[in-house]
Amino acid sequence: MNFWLSGNILWDLRATGTIPGLDDLVAAARRSIYVNPLPSVEIEMDIAIQPLSSDGYLWQRSERFWFADGDIILSAQLTENARKLYRVHRLRVSVDSTRLHEALFNVPDNENMEMYEGLPLYHVMDAALDFETFLTYVYDPQDLQISPYDSNTCLLYSTLLRVSKTYRMAGLREELSTYLEFVWPSSLEEWDQRTLRYETIASHYTSTESPEGRYLDDCLAEPIVALRLFREHDLFKHLPSAFYELSLISPTADWHAMHEDPGRQSARSRWLLSSRIRSARWALLTTEDHMCLHKGLRQMQILSLTMIPPDNELCLAPPCVHGRLYIQLVILHEINRFRDVLGILRYYCQDQAKQTMLREGVCAECVQKIGDFMRKKRQHIFDNLAHFFDLPSPRGNTSTDTA
Ligand SMILES: [Zn+2]
Repeated sequence: MNFWLSGNILWDLRATGTIPGLDDLVAAARRSIYVNPLPSVEIEMDIAIQPLSSDGYLWQRSERFWFADGDIILSAQLTENARKLYRVHRLRVSVDSTRLHEALFNVPDNENMEMYEGLPLYHVMDAALDFETFLTYVYDPQDLQISPYDSNTCLLYSTLLRVSKTYRMAGLREELSTYLEFVWPSSLEEWDQRTLRYETIASHYTSTESPEGRYLDDCLAEPIVALRLFREHDLFKHLPSAFYELSLISPTADWHAMHEDPGRQSARSRWLLSSRIRSARWALLTTEDHMCLHKGLRQMQILSLTMIPPDNELCLAPPCVHGRLYIQLVILHEINRFRDVLGILRYYCQDQAKQTMLREGVCAECVQKIGDFMRKKRQHIFDNLAHFFDLPSPRGNTSTDTA
């Protein structure tokens, strides 16, 4: 399930001149399954459809979800005039889904109900692909194990979020919520843990490619699809970290251009990727989000002027004042170059940076004050990312469990 998507999908969509919704992207991802079937992807459609229906529909049996000891037949919508049938276990499919539990247990079978091969037949009336994603979760959850270290996972999460809502699956929603917090944290502490994990991954990409032929950029979640996902599902608490991540990526680093088919990549793309440059799917950024990004970047610039306490809070010894001025200029330069305010402040809170400040003439007392100031500043910045990027309040909707 980890590799549903090929790099060309988004390109094809972008060529239409409109910004596709997540459903379009997921649909495109699914279409790619039929073109390039992969061993781990089980969701596929058989071509042969049996004209069995008494109500004008064409019916097709599922090969994968047709259990000899199943005690119920469920049907889902395959096409406009065709349904797909699944012989499954009433109890098993009801455990994870409140909706199916209510439908299959609260209404007793009666003599007038539709039957198929002697078993009760229920129509769930949902898209067969969504229903099969649900059945995959029920019967083969290992097929839905999604790596947090894959740039495409947010697209699959869009499908899973929808399925979890459609079938009212508390367990799946909780799993999704845990994953999203892991990749797009809403606290500075979690953000720092994430940074450490990413630094560890990045340390494995010192050569041109990983042993598996993937680049660092393949392994880290791509932020624009993520923030589209959060917008569409009102998962506001993850928006700030996604926007912050995006603010660190150059607008010239286009995900599609850099990830074209490996054989067609330009030498420059390969060089950028092997230099561990991150990219984003800039073509998918909405106008609204462009504005949010600009506002956040502007705020970060303003903040970069106040990374050190004002002089009236520190000593006036000339070597210390001179040393502080030098440190401030270095920080300004680094923020201007790398934009990673949180990362730069993190460095200056560490012992190594304190030694540097002492060497530059800053007195020990001021070094201590500067360190304390930067720690608080960092926390303040992270806590106010939503405000800086002009995003909805993270407390407006805090997790997938509000579905
Ligand atoms: Zn001092």
